[in-house]
Amino acid sequence: METTMLIKGGLVVGENTETPGDVYIRGERIVAVGKDLPADKGAKIIEAQGKILIPGGIDVHTHLDLDVGFTRASDDFYTGTVAAALGGTTAIVDHPGFGPAGCALDHQIKTYHRLAAGKAVIDYGFHGVIQQVDPGILEQMAVLAEEGITSYKVYLTYDYKLSDGDVYQVLEQAQKQGLMIAVHPENDGVIGYLRSRFVKEGKTAARYHPLSRPAAAEAEAINRMLLLANMAGDAPLYIVHLSNKQGLTFIQDARKRGQPHLYAETCPQYLLLDDRMYEQPGYEGLKYLMCPPLRKPEDRAGLWEGLAADIDTVATDHCPFFFETQKIRGKDDFTQCPSGAPGIEERIPLLFSEGVMQQRISLRRFVDLCSTNPAKLFGMYPQKGVIREGSDADIVIIDPEVKKVLTQRTLHARVDYSAYEGWEVQGYPTWVISRGEVIVREGIFAANPGRGRFIPRKRMQALR
Ligand SMILES: [Zn+2]
Repeated sequence: METTMLIKGGLVVGENTETPGDVYIRGERIVAVGKDLPADKGAKIIEAQGKILIPGGIDVHTHLDLDVGFTRASDDFYTGTVAAALGGTTAIVDHPGFGPAGCALDHQIKTYHRLAAGKAVIDYGFHGVIQQVDPGILEQMAVLAEEGITSYKVYLTYDYKLSDGDVYQVLEQAQKQGLMIAVHPENDGVIGYLRSRFVKEGKTAARYHPLSRPAAAEAEAINRMLLLANMAGDAPLYIVHLSNKQGLTFIQDARKRGQPHLYAETCPQYLLLDDRMYEQPGYEGLKYLMCPPLRKPEDRAGLWEGLAADIDTVATDHCPFFFETQKIRGKDDFTQCPSGAPGIEERIPLLFSEGVMQQRISLRRFVDLCSTNPAKLFGMYPQKGVIREGSDADIVIIDPEVKKVLTQRTLHARVDYSAYEGWEVQGYPTWVISRGEVIVREGIFAANPGRGRFIPRKRMQALR
């Protein structure tokens, strides 16, 4: 018999409502939402008075078990998803690394199915990664879409950067097929030149990292991408990890000119941290070495303003490396440091505390940014991203009274630091339910490796 569960008396954040009520779960699904719901005999009861019920967090930008050639991201699909769960995230869409030169489009998808199977504790999907363009690759985009890979990542920098002509063809195909193209936008030429110039001049400390990747080099690439998407007939385009204000202005202008299918993601690090982190003594700055780099306080302010309407999602770009053994590779030369930082567990607590509790964004907007919009844009809605009858019972109970200090000692990613060490948060996810199973109970993780399932994603749903 299917188990039943009644979550009683919490503030339920629905699609257009925030009302005290109950959520009734049978098996893996929500079967009723409402006031004073009767419970079956034998139903498990969770009392949630004074707590807030949100649909499980969805992080659409993670890099678990990422192979960067000379090293590997330190979280695998077990440790990374345990950390995610404890932070109130019940689904991820991971960005795979590059495969061998010339590999087929499904090569990395197959690889990632192997990496995740038997390990993930929450549900997961994969973006495809396009590292070269030919008619076969374009055709495979349509084929893989039927297997649930309905979004693709292109890079404008790094080893497998695409030319503008290649990007254009990908966008045309995406437009035809209704697929989402996620882009890492940075001007490769400028960055390549600045990096090598700094190294030649002996400017190899971490503080040169942000100078080698100027905000304008990101904004230029964003502008180029959105114009290419416009030329391709308003192809669905998703800017990942937006870090600067100028890029946001370009996005706002393009929408005003009539390009609605343009979406933007930012991450907690770009909202809460800035380039002063690179000025710290010793090699501390390497902990924050990521691409794009942390920007100026003005950029942070601009991004916070953008969260009200123009930025659509908050994801993490979680890509952890041990400071002591991996990041330290960059101690004499920042260009040798693996790029990325942990954050999968801190996302929901930070955005709830800094956003909702500090009254910078509404509770509803917080849920849109962290769950509903990611679900819609990446083809998981309304199975996920919403508390409603028929949806997966992915529910996070936030206790707004809990105060916590974020510290690596009590966080769970397999890494030796937190980018938010010592940060105080008000409000924390205390219970996490994934497809009807309690996987975090009063802050304690309790579920089996491999219980997470692959999410065959449908096509995107437009937000505007
Ligand atoms: Zn990334």
